[in-house]
Amino acid sequence: MKFEELGLSPEVLGAIADAGYTEPTPIQAQAIPHLLMGRDVLGIAQTGTGKTAGFTLPMIEILAAGRARARMPRSLILEPTRELAAQVAENFAIYGKNHKLSMALLIGGVSFVEQNEKLDRGVDVLIATPGRLLDQFERGRILLADIKILVVDEADRMLDMGFIPDVERIIKLLPPIRQTAMFSATMPTEVKRLTDSYMMNPRRVEVAPPASAAETVVQRLVAVRGGFTEKRKALRDLIASENVRNAIVFCNRKRDVKIVDQSLRRHGINAQALHGDLPQPVRTATLEKFRAGEISILVASDVAARGLDIDDMSHVINFDVPMNPEDYIHRIGRTGRAGREGHALTLATAADAKYVQQIERLIGGKIEPINSVVQSADQTQATPPVTPQAERDDSRPRGDAKAPRKRTSNRRNSGIKIAANTDVKPATASKPTETERDKPRRTQRRPQQGEPAELGMGDHTPAFLQR
Ligand code: AMP
Repeated sequence: MKFEELGLSPEVLGAIADAGYTEPTPIQAQAIPHLLMGRDVLGIAQTGTGKTAGFTLPMIEILAAGRARARMPRSLILEPTRELAAQVAENFAIYGKNHKLSMALLIGGVSFVEQNEKLDRGVDVLIATPGRLLDQFERGRILLADIKILVVDEADRMLDMGFIPDVERIIKLLPPIRQTAMFSATMPTEVKRLTDSYMMNPRRVEVAPPASAAETVVQRLVAVRGGFTEKRKALRDLIASENVRNAIVFCNRKRDVKIVDQSLRRHGINAQALHGDLPQPVRTATLEKFRAGEISILVASDVAARGLDIDDMSHVINFDVPMNPEDYIHRIGRTGRAGREGHALTLATAADAKYVQQIERLIGGKIEPINSVVQSADQTQATPPVTPQAERDDSRPRGDAKAPRKRTSNRRNSGIKIAANTDVKPATASKPTETERDKPRRTQRRPQQGEPAELGMGDHTPAFLQR
């Protein structure tokens, strides 16, 4: 299938060629013709499938004819997070470069003054998060009576974030005669109810079963005996031993995002936090730095990192096993994109057994335990697994990271930049062979009772992994 066969104009085809795409992704090949014909489309697709272009390309074509009136946008795209909204806006700019379509972005943290000026002049596309849109609508800044196309993106995420009532309120404010496209990676009952109530005989297009992870993602489970402290140690050891070039480290709670980020930085690892409590300019700057490779590890919550499109990310690390198994699919979908190999490592304590089981049920297979013993050279008889210094570092009151400490673990194989004044060079070293990695670095012994941090499957396999 070629883009030329989808009914797109030469202007849009030119922009696609400039973006470097040679052929449509399956969701694009299926959705674009229906949308161009003016039909409602329900797309079951996760991020990474090219769904954004799947709806933006036909929207550009449809909106190319006609003009926007003051404060009456002609189309509306609802996104659950500011990051996704900003990403869609970027896509519009790329694919719409040969058109004169105007666009406004209503998200928290972006100055309303500038966006309101645009709205006053009239915009073809309004990209918004539901809360901000309602806020501006209630202030009388926007009229929704001219919306001809509505896109609800990541509907299942909207549900997770409690946005469905807002989405429904917005839909009721729109003209009943319009074209609607909805995208969702999964189809929970509430989302189904929304599609049944507000879409007209939608064409359902589906690219991957909701529970499938990309085949290019190598998934591994890392057993950790202990709690939060041992997991932080385990994380550092993984970063050191697993040839991590860049990674998102997912935590289940915002509070833990902050602590894990600070802990990594205290150990000289080039990390930064991304969570919903941070001001938008900080979030944007952090993402830009991560994209540019200036930050190697992004410690994030599900909500903040959902759908992030980062090219060529080597690892996703689940510091916490997600409680919702579908979040696992979303998380690991951040790596292994565009056919590249990616790695998903999940730290699991015995308490996580039931969540691991849920995930394995969803993906229809077992997540194999990691092959290598992830104990660092320090974790031997001579040196306790977690040094007293490191423990003090992690347990003292949280504040700005102080000067980086001398490293306590072996980062020989890592691609991660280590802060200055450590004695390790950023990894140019190649990935170790299995045999090298499997080799204990010094004589290992079984930890005595009360000792922290046991990682990998080297000498202890928790019962829940022995099924
Ligand atoms: P999305 O699922 O919309 O977040 O898109 C995931 C990634 O795929 C983005 O980096 C897009 O730039 C890229 N992409 C979208 N369409 C194509 C295509 N037809 N060929 C190659 N890459 C694409």
